[in-house]
Amino acid sequence: MASKKTKVVDGFTAIRAAQEAARHGRGDPLRPQSETPNKPPGTADPKSGARIGRSVMPTKREVICPECDTISSVVGKVELWVCTHCRHRMKLQDLELPDGEWSDEIEVGGTVIIPSGTKLMGGKITANNVVLQGEMAGVELRACNKLTIGAHAKPDWVRLKMLDLEVGVGVNLTPGKPIEGRNLLLHGKFAGNAVLSGRLHIYADGDFSGQLRAAGLEVEEGGGFRAQLDVKPENAPPPPKPKARAPAKPNPKLRPPVPRSNKPPPPQKK
Ligand SMILES: [Zn+2]
Repeated sequence: MASKKTKVVDGFTAIRAAQEAARHGRGDPLRPQSETPNKPPGTADPKSGARIGRSVMPTKREVICPECDTISSVVGKVELWVCTHCRHRMKLQDLELPDGEWSDEIEVGGTVIIPSGTKLMGGKITANNVVLQGEMAGVELRACNKLTIGAHAKPDWVRLKMLDLEVGVGVNLTPGKPIEGRNLLLHGKFAGNAVLSGRLHIYADGDFSGQLRAAGLEVEEGGGFRAQLDVKPENAPPPPKPKARAPAKPNPKLRPPVPRSNKPPPPQKK
């Protein structure tokens, strides 16, 4: 759905991104030796550290496909990401929205930061990670991976979806409806009902009160915790079945022939 409206990337950019991904992921097939002048990031020789200069060491990150939920690991600089499972594509950029009112559609595989001066009036924002400091006033917001709630955020839980939820320092969260997701990570306070397929982690500055159903629980020294509990590994979903590579989108022209039961007409006798 969201992909229909996202901006189209031109072929050249796509090819360049694919080449870059191939170089970073598997090395340059034309240069099997590792002594290439341009070493792919991630395999940087410690001795050459002084020459790295401005380039940031890329870290491995997980990108979750908004269309099929497949998790893939990305290493290095990739502009255009293509889902290995369903071929959905999106840019891996990070964005920080401007202050003021915002109403638009965004889909990126990076992180979208919504500052405290931003009011999201409408539209739809889909990103791998979302940092919400501002106000939701009509927008549909989805963090395919992690949503981080800041101290001044005004979330709208009806229009919010995420996998992991991180509650920042100084937050006092009372969602008013059960929170569903994978992991809940608390630096601030949470009062309510959480249903987690993963674990609740309460940091030393975190506090949880209410009802918890989860597969795991970790409370650091200093964290507050008062809850009605249902915590057992069985609350986790069953491990995903190994996924076969998805067939490309069905092409009606390549559809296998429908088996026919009617035999060919018998040869005519003369
Ligand atoms: Zn996908």
